Amino acid sequence: MDERFDLVIRGGTVYDGTGAPGVRADVGVRSDRVVAVGEIAARGGEETDARGLAVTPGFIDVHSHDDYAVLLEPEMEFKTLQGVTSDVVGNCGSGVVPFDAGLIRFRRMHPAANPEPWDGFAGYLERVDAVRPSCNVAVLMGHGSLRRGAMGLEPRAPAPDEMRRMTAWVREGVEAGAVGLSTGLIYEPGRYAGTDEVIALGREVAAAGGGLYATHMRNEADGLLDAVREAIRIGEEAGVPVQISHHKASGRLNWGRVRDSLGLIEQARARGLDVTADQYPYTAGSTSLFAVLQNGSFRSDSPGGLGRLEGADVLIAFAPTHAEWEGRRLAALAAEWGLDDEATARRVVEAEGEACFVVVFTMDEADVKTVMAHPTTMIGSDGVPAGGKPHPRLYGCFARVLGHYVREVQVLDLPTAIHRMTGMPAAKFELRDRGVIRPGAFADLVVFDPARIADVATYDEPRRSPAGIHAVYVNGIAVAREGRHTGARPGRALRRGRA
Ligand SMILES: [Zn+2]
Repeated sequence: MDERFDLVIRGGTVYDGTGAPGVRADVGVRSDRVVAVGEIAARGGEETDARGLAVTPGFIDVHSHDDYAVLLEPEMEFKTLQGVTSDVVGNCGSGVVPFDAGLIRFRRMHPAANPEPWDGFAGYLERVDAVRPSCNVAVLMGHGSLRRGAMGLEPRAPAPDEMRRMTAWVREGVEAGAVGLSTGLIYEPGRYAGTDEVIALGREVAAAGGGLYATHMRNEADGLLDAVREAIRIGEEAGVPVQISHHKASGRLNWGRVRDSLGLIEQARARGLDVTADQYPYTAGSTSLFAVLQNGSFRSDSPGGLGRLEGADVLIAFAPTHAEWEGRRLAALAAEWGLDDEATARRVVEAEGEACFVVVFTMDEADVKTVMAHPTTMIGSDGVPAGGKPHPRLYGCFARVLGHYVREVQVLDLPTAIHRMTGMPAAKFELRDRGVIRPGAFADLVVFDPARIADVATYDEPRRSPAGIHAVYVNGIAVAREGRHTGARPGRALRRGRA
């Protein structure tokens, strides 16, 4: 065997991403691939001393909203510095095709964005390859954007020609290498879609070659269990695997219901269906204030998909034309303006439109732990890359799992946690030769100190990258060392099932 290595990561404890316990080994890399794992005598062109440290596959963020961020901020510091080497964009129904409909949604996060149009999912993935961000990028087809492109915001079922337009985009996306279809069934216009519409599009995914169905469900509050049943039915009738996005029970009255939703997932799996979920490790979510209002969250009589909220539960994350509101609770603005919570929210939305994002405190810590401990849960940040006070998950998600939930409160052991952010998502999203450390796999790698890794992003100071991560490699190239970005941009577009 040729004994030349471009990089040797020496003396670390290797967690290979399968869930197996760590083993002391060197990792040899040539070009973009791992070529040897074991005792390596030869010197590498680059040597990294990993004694006392963990060496793991790069983390895969299965739930991101970085569709435009990877083009506009290609260093992707908020992800790469927490060890994310592959980012799955297009979640919650917001996608990049058709171009005009996608742009409307993403201008909420990036008001000044004005990219050259791309043609279909193939064109988007080509653009990613041309820009070369620092991390790899896989894309989901956002149903909300497809629907908006086909029929605007019409609150009705699609006509046959509108359905044909959506299915044509789905076919193009699957052929281009999209990893699946996503819905946002609490959002406009996804909320106007019936179950049958989504099943029909899911069948198109299966017929065109495959991919999964990822869903921000219609209801994560009182209607959680019906929403899980709907997601499972869509997967079963369409013949596609199901990924339940950011699995949770929202709203105090619904706390504890995750035990029942996990039970539904277990039952479906027992019938042979491939149903899993993802989760971010926090008791607060984040969404647009417009959606909070549209779901009637401030009204006791009409709790929608988000559950009941009060002004004190809502923190303003991004107000593009009123930065002075960012970091303030809605309750504080309500007191200042002499309005009730709903009227205050309406005034903010009148000023900012759909571009105001908020952090919403809706979950129970015990539920977060119950979901995390369950073997069907992988990790996804759901980070929103916008504003002065974004939800801290944007920077801290993966380190928080490894520091707080593994080391401090021991909800998971380390090999299992690594598996849930590497090998498990790579298999589910069909990211070939990613998510594992073995000869032949891509050299997406993280070197970190299990005794020190910690998220330091807070709700007050969210734009802070984690501690304890020594190096991050993407396709064999270092993108971060000792908490600093190297400036390298070795990322690629990932196409489903293809190396
Ligand atoms: Zn979502």
